[in-house]
Amino acid sequence: MTEKVLTTRFGLENSHTLKVYEETGGYQTAKKCLEMTPDEIIDEVKKANLRGRGGAGFPAGVKWGFVPKDTSKDHFLVINADEGEPGTFKDRYLMRLDPHQLLEGMIIASRAIRAEYAYIYVRGEMWLEKDRLDEAIAEAEQAGYLGENLFGTGNKLKIRVATGAGAYVCGEETALLNSLEGKRGEPRLKPPFPAVVGAFGQPTIINNVETISNVPHIMQKGGEWFHQLGVDGDGGTRIIGISGAVKKPGIYELPVGFNTKSFIEDQAGGMLDGLSMKALIPGGSSCPVLKPDEIDIPFSNDSLKSVGSMAGSGGMIVISDKTCMVRAMENLAHFYAHESCGQCTPCREGTHFLHLIIKRLEAGQGTMEDIDKLYRLANNMEGATICPLAEAAAWPMKSFITKFRDEFEAHVTLGRCPMNHAIG
Ligand code: SF4
Repeated sequence: MTEKVLTTRFGLENSHTLKVYEETGGYQTAKKCLEMTPDEIIDEVKKANLRGRGGAGFPAGVKWGFVPKDTSKDHFLVINADEGEPGTFKDRYLMRLDPHQLLEGMIIASRAIRAEYAYIYVRGEMWLEKDRLDEAIAEAEQAGYLGENLFGTGNKLKIRVATGAGAYVCGEETALLNSLEGKRGEPRLKPPFPAVVGAFGQPTIINNVETISNVPHIMQKGGEWFHQLGVDGDGGTRIIGISGAVKKPGIYELPVGFNTKSFIEDQAGGMLDGLSMKALIPGGSSCPVLKPDEIDIPFSNDSLKSVGSMAGSGGMIVISDKTCMVRAMENLAHFYAHESCGQCTPCREGTHFLHLIIKRLEAGQGTMEDIDKLYRLANNMEGATICPLAEAAAWPMKSFITKFRDEFEAHVTLGRCPMNHAIG
């Protein structure tokens, strides 16, 4: 199965323009959807089993159904284009190379949740993507596809791009909303959930770029078609961004359920010459790490969960036998300590102690007790905080220790890093 859905325009010249988008069938589906009822759209997306592509994998159609129907409040659609998870770099290509596909998905999703205002919250560093989105919005407004009277149907939708300032925690949906509203980017306590009390206190749906880019295709070809592309309960394709010690790192679109090991060996070209695989982070840095004998499995939310990890955001990091796992984890621990917003004690203190202790171990100055302390500390951070950032720091730590304990112990017994920080 090689069918591509989201990346078919990627090789075309000026793929980001309205001209190319329309020449390849763009905006026809949105026009038709504006004549459908919100429930008809939601039912089709539920049939598609479109799971969120941002990390949590929650079914999009189900999420849309949480917006209250009996309210006269304004509703908002917010696109999470923060893409801050280390190892993840696929949404930026969707925005850069096919922004109209995202806008068309937003028109349909907004109809489904009865929103007349929508935001795309883009990571501040992604200036090219922001420019492309602004240009695409201007083109669509000019053509009458956005604004006061969409396609002459009387429907209204205003889309604006908002930029963040590079904080990882603003990829968490409620921190994103605070940032969007001009407040500190700190996660909110839930409930209330954003579908009921979201942006500016109004019902809001927040979805990832890739998730919403799938919507025009689902509505054009049907939810059943989309579901069939993937596996039971997890439809469509995934855009995988693979980095690390492989010959052909980059962006690939594959049907959900592709074999993880074969993908790395075939499409991604296999390991760089002279290196073998030591580990795989399958879906962004917060996912528990896998050993090579665990990856001969389908890539889907449920399959990765069955081996104790996650499909996450589809950002694969391939780690070679020349990489020190303690050094790699120390790098991640540093990141999470830096990105904690500081509201919760287990996260604010825990992420910093994780980094402090693993840094000591990596320098050859740790003890065997430090290894157990790291594990216990990570364990105690789970389920004790406002948002999942603490768990994003704890999960990889626990899996690195469990699966590569021999390397942690070698740092203690040798009194130095056995690999001298070699990166591969
Ligand atoms: Fe902030 Fe960490 Fe608490 Fe999340 S878990 S709200 S990042 S302190």
